[in-house]
Amino acid sequence: MTTPPAHDPACIFCRIIRGELPSRRVYEDDDLFAFHDIHPIAPVHFMIAPKLHVESLAQCGPAQAPLLGKMLAKAGELASGQGLADGFRTIINTGRGGGQEVYHLHIHIVGGPRPLGAMLPRQA
Ligand code: AMP
Ligand code: ZN
Repeated sequence: MTTPPAHDPACIFCRIIRGELPSRRVYEDDDLFAFHDIHPIAPVHFMIAPKLHVESLAQCGPAQAPLLGKMLAKAGELASGQGLADGFRTIINTGRGGGQEVYHLHIHIVGGPRPLGAMLPRQA
């Protein structure tokens, strides 16, 4: 397997992470970048992406485990910071069959009153 590029100049998320395109940033550290989705599907909808260009979960293996862990481990703290102390959904779309639109790995964090509407169990 060839080593993926650290950054792909044709990738829209790489360009956002490098500040070449605007975004509404939620969080940034050495490895991660989180920003609001431009087409939110719920009152709160942001994404956590690695700074490294990794296409999708399908390209991940044991070598990416620490990075994947870091992405998930940050979700609760960032969601709370966005007002989602009550809970949130995490979504990772993978590949064509998974409806992935942007081929730079990311976790969607979705929440707010009735996120995703009918997909959630009915409230009592
Ligand atoms: P996915 O289907 O998981 O690949 O989701 C990609 C997401 O990126 C979609 O929800 C888009 O609305 C979002 N998106 C695309 N371009 C931008 C952008 N320039 N800034 C923020 N979000 C974006
Ligand atoms: Zn990228």
